[in-house]
Amino acid sequence: MKKGNIINKRDYPVCCNSCGRELKKENGILMEDVFEATKEWGYFSSRDTQVHHFFLCEECYDRLISGFRIPIEVKKKVEVL
Ligand SMILES: [Zn+2]
Repeated sequence: MKKGNIINKRDYPVCCNSCGRELKKENGILMEDVFEATKEWGYFSSRDTQVHHFFLCEECYDRLISGFRIPIEVKKKVEVL
């Protein structure tokens, strides 16, 4: 089965959907982290059957979440594999 929402970041430029900036890559490897969102809209939505996907650079992500009334949940990763 095809993994529809896994993006191979080596193959093509990754741009932040908000500011349009192309994210830094060296030798095909992404040199900064990026927020990636995929949403499959369902039956109770006017977007039923649509799959939305976008990237946000860290700066745009910070700007987005700073506008939230309720802060996002942040958990610390205890173990890094
Ligand atoms: Zn951005």
